[in-house]
Amino acid sequence: MIFQNSLEFALALDVEDPLKKYRDDFYFPIVNNKEVIYFTGNSLGLQPKSTKKFVDEIMEDWKNLAVDGHFYAEKSWWDYHELLAAPLSKVVGASVEEISVMNSLTINLHLLMVSFYRPNGKRYKILCEEKAFPSDQYMLQSQVRFHGYNPDDAIIEVKKRPGEHHWRMEDVIAKIEEVGDELALVLMGGVNYYNGQVFDMESITAAGHAQGAFVGWDLAHAAGNIHLELHDWKVDFAAWCSYKYMNSGPGNASAIFVHENHLNDNNIPRFEGWWGTKKESRFKMKPYFESIGTADSWQNSNPPVLALAPYLASLLMFEEVGMPQLIKKRALIVAYLEFILKEISQELNASFEIITPEERGCQLSVFLHGEGKSLHNYLLENGVITDWIEPNVIRLAPAPFYCSYEDMYRFGQILKEGILK
Ligand SMILES: *Cc1c(COP(=O)(O)O)cnc(C)c1O
Repeated sequence: MIFQNSLEFALALDVEDPLKKYRDDFYFPIVNNKEVIYFTGNSLGLQPKSTKKFVDEIMEDWKNLAVDGHFYAEKSWWDYHELLAAPLSKVVGASVEEISVMNSLTINLHLLMVSFYRPNGKRYKILCEEKAFPSDQYMLQSQVRFHGYNPDDAIIEVKKRPGEHHWRMEDVIAKIEEVGDELALVLMGGVNYYNGQVFDMESITAAGHAQGAFVGWDLAHAAGNIHLELHDWKVDFAAWCSYKYMNSGPGNASAIFVHENHLNDNNIPRFEGWWGTKKESRFKMKPYFESIGTADSWQNSNPPVLALAPYLASLLMFEEVGMPQLIKKRALIVAYLEFILKEISQELNASFEIITPEERGCQLSVFLHGEGKSLHNYLLENGVITDWIEPNVIRLAPAPFYCSYEDMYRFGQILKEGILK
């Protein structure tokens, strides 16, 4: 498609957009009496208008039924989390049995490490990308220390090449092969939070397996953003949060994927609790654990139903629209945003550098060379919500559910004013 940096062109794209009606299904913050241009759906998705109804339903059931809500609420609480597994399985390319919703992300990664980081003899090393999300680094370092190793020795980071802003696939594979039979686990972010790079998870998973390692993925920036086939890619495990592209609300529940191959392994080490036991006998209060045999075996506690309600509201929207449609619009809107950035960069003789490689999802990370934090503040004051990472990178993620092509055009105009100012 040949793009134009004009309001008319942007509006024409909106008219043709099969997802345009969904914009009205979300609340936007208001700045200067206008809905903001929201680029931080990669950090906290907007609130769907349907969310409150799902939360209110739980509040009503609690009010009217009290403890009986566990079994007699219309959406009973004792198995409420199972309502989320079916729509989620489609978002990440899994079977329903391979999904569980529980806790929050870093906690879930720790729980999964119990099962999938099993250092043994010389096989104790973990491979990840350099400068992974800080929480993931702390999680890995503390796990390694817990097992008695030194993080400097046991954690192998794949580096970017000097002067480059993305990782090369061949470097990831080469590093996996180099570590070879010392490799216990590959654990990386499927989409890097900083540069927006999407990794070839299928190939990396195969490369890790070829060395006899387990392979897991942190999908915080991937779930609800890119095409995932976790089951077919033979990923061992994955976890993600739900408040980024999945629009479930601040700090909300995480979900895990555990591959079918591991579900019936009775010897897999795991930290266990009563919600991971067989449903038929869960309330017989037996003194020993009988695994439910699905990813729910990793579920320790009865889940926080009030937190699951907004996640369910959002998932039903994903169910209705489907990932293929979201991905189609995402590709076009991100391409349009890229075009606008390039146009403006040229027009003003500015030097923006998009550091996100071709392998990308919703996010463009942009170096605004020669500009400072004051530009970010100007954008904020004029209703553009982005985030700023020192020294001068902005991350722009136009979530396809609710961002419009007009937003991209208007953003370009505001950016231009901010630079000329
Ligand atoms: C957002 C994000 C997290 C956040 O972890 P929480 O446990 O939900 O606070 C972790 N890892 C990655 C890669 C992220 O992008």
